[in-house]
Amino acid sequence: MNLIVQKYGGTSVATPELIKRAALRIVSLKKKGYDVAVVISAMGDTTDRLLNLATKITDRPSGRELDMLLSSGERVAMALLSMAINSMGFPAISFTGSQSGIVTDTVHTKARIKAVRPYRVQEELKKGKIVVVAGFQGVSPEHEVTTLGRGGSDTTAVALAYALGAEQCEILTDVDGVYTADPRIVPRARKLDAISYDEMLELASSGAKVLHTRSVELAKQYKVLLHVRSSFNENPGTIVKEEEKQMEEILVRGIAYDDSEAKVTIREVPDRPGVAARIFGSLAQANINVDMIIQNVSDSGTTDMSFTVPESELLQALGCIEKLRTEMEFKDVVADNDIAKVSIVGLGMRSHSGVAARMFQALAEKGINIEMISTSEIKISCVVRRPEVEEAVKALHKAFELE
Ligand code: ADP
Ligand code: ASP
Ligand code: MG
Repeated sequence: MNLIVQKYGGTSVATPELIKRAALRIVSLKKKGYDVAVVISAMGDTTDRLLNLATKITDRPSGRELDMLLSSGERVAMALLSMAINSMGFPAISFTGSQSGIVTDTVHTKARIKAVRPYRVQEELKKGKIVVVAGFQGVSPEHEVTTLGRGGSDTTAVALAYALGAEQCEILTDVDGVYTADPRIVPRARKLDAISYDEMLELASSGAKVLHTRSVELAKQYKVLLHVRSSFNENPGTIVKEEEKQMEEILVRGIAYDDSEAKVTIREVPDRPGVAARIFGSLAQANINVDMIIQNVSDSGTTDMSFTVPESELLQALGCIEKLRTEMEFKDVVADNDIAKVSIVGLGMRSHSGVAARMFQALAEKGINIEMISTSEIKISCVVRRPEVEEAVKALHKAFELE
């Protein structure tokens, strides 16, 4: 029988009433003859509240204990949803990430799925049950509970959809699909009917949190068809799929922004081979994700080096750099968390020129200063002052005629 994996995000299951509504939707899919496996997020802002609770205890909680804490949110939701489905007369059973065979590496709070061995899920599906799986969590080879990073339930859903051979993975959320920009910032943003994996990957990794970046990576790698749609209506949403020829005709598919990064500048680093390798090697060893990097060489034999990291990892990054101070003999290190990144993404950039100039012009017209620039084949990103980023998104949305 055909199987569909549905994932419900936090807003879609924020109250008992909404959980019952989700259960009704799941049951109606089952009645249509599908096997259904559901991945669920924690209710509403549960994960934020749990994180906040931890800060009341300590400002340096261990990753292991954070994972024990955060994973409990999804556990509550999965049990309630399973109860709701059962009480409608349809047999359901809930499983934690570990029980579902979601095996990850050992990097607490941002673990990566390494394997999915969903034997118990398959067994229960075979019995005709609806299976509810806790999103965002897994288990390491050392039997420790791990979580996949904020928004990680999308990744659980895609990994499970692939492992179960699902026909489709539906991401049910609080917007009608993937838009040309975050509809909360740009009210005139348009819903896209389809988007390629590569464009979605760039948008997600540039801050469009409608999908977890790793979920798009996995969907692309394993060719899982993703349907992002609203849990609050039956409208068709956005299909994320393999690129088609005519997709290249669109210059800019969408705009994303990220205000969760911080910039670190190391001043007057000696300009000699091996310095960058040492600095970024040390950050990599601490599992810190470095995003943009720029280096300004001066003629005095030293260089200034700036890079961005997630704001949540800023203190840790500064710690790594401080440890290198005597060895590197740099002058000082400065942190700046009043920055944000705005990015434009589109397959059409491969074959059209002048896109960067148009982007810079649109920002200049608003008096927005660009501090860092990075590009890929289908993306251009600029770092700007954080208070200016929303205006930047709106200006670019207009400049590239996305309205
Ligand atoms: P869920 O809890 O369902 O996982 P998220 O809050 O993680 O939902 O993601 C949905 C949100 O993503 C939307 O409410 C929207 O504000 C935001 N978002 C950012 N960029 C986009 C975009 N390009 N298209 C749609 N939504 C976007
Ligand atoms: N509950 C987790 C979070 O808020 C995971 C998710 O919702 O996808 O980040
Ligand atoms: Mg999400």
